Amino acid sequence: MQKLAFYGKGGIGKSTIAAGVSMALARDGKRVLHVGCDPKHDSTLALVPDGKITTVIDQIFSKKTGELRREHLIMKGKHGIECVESGGPEAGVGCGGRAVSRMLEIFEEIGVVDESLYDVVVFDVLGDVVCGGFAAPLRSAFAPKVVIVLSEELAATYAANNIAKGVKHYLDNDVCLAGLVLNLRDNSADITPIQKFADQIKTCILATIPRDKLVQQAELEGESILQHAPDSQTAGIICELSRKLIALDPATCLDPEPLELMDLRQLMHGKG
Ligand code: ADP
Ligand code: MG
Repeated sequence: MQKLAFYGKGGIGKSTIAAGVSMALARDGKRVLHVGCDPKHDSTLALVPDGKITTVIDQIFSKKTGELRREHLIMKGKHGIECVESGGPEAGVGCGGRAVSRMLEIFEEIGVVDESLYDVVVFDVLGDVVCGGFAAPLRSAFAPKVVIVLSEELAATYAANNIAKGVKHYLDNDVCLAGLVLNLRDNSADITPIQKFADQIKTCILATIPRDKLVQQAELEGESILQHAPDSQTAGIICELSRKLIALDPATCLDPEPLELMDLRQLMHGKG
């Protein structure tokens, strides 16, 4: 069973891309478990047919101790994709990272990530790993291939660099950095600094996705771009990305070498 974990700054396109990858893999005949790790519980909206989301945290609170089973957590998605959302506290009243850690403990307690049931588990993870809870999927049992989503903007690159630090921290757990996905804000942007950033942290750009209004139209319809516009360029890029990720041999991934903040700023300034 393969595990993929998508990380990146908030709003950068993780859920869009992770849900697209899950759908592409399911269409290729893979048995997919898609796990949303964001208190906003929006990762699986495009995958669950009626958009009705049940979260792990809601289920924990509505069940007595010992009553919780995997079928309480799993939502049946399109193309047979099984979906789980961690959920989390209301804004301002708790810790979303703790919700992710707790979800993963429950996964182990009741055997949610069953090797015999899935070919691929896709984690869509919030944030830039500064919080230990969101780093939980990088810990021992999961050993994912990590994909960092970023754009050409400094803040996204800054988050990406932090995530690379998180990956470096957990290398002993067989985590590897699969590469970057560049989700463009501006299709005419100069991407040279991002190519240099990838080189310098010892990784690669796996895919470059254009800003595409079809993505937002799909979102309004509660669909993935793969369902909404299967023949579009963007859908094609995401399908290709999904195949590349599955084929990638972790042994070929180099250990990341994140940059110092000043070096990153220089690089993004075109001086690196
Ligand atoms: P994240 O999960 O990283 O917070 P989302 O996947 O929810 O980010 O994307 C944030 C917003 O940006 C959504 O409204 C989504 O439709 C939009 N978006 C993401 N990628 C693209 C793209 N390539 N083109 C146009 N809109 C995009
Ligand atoms: Mg998201």
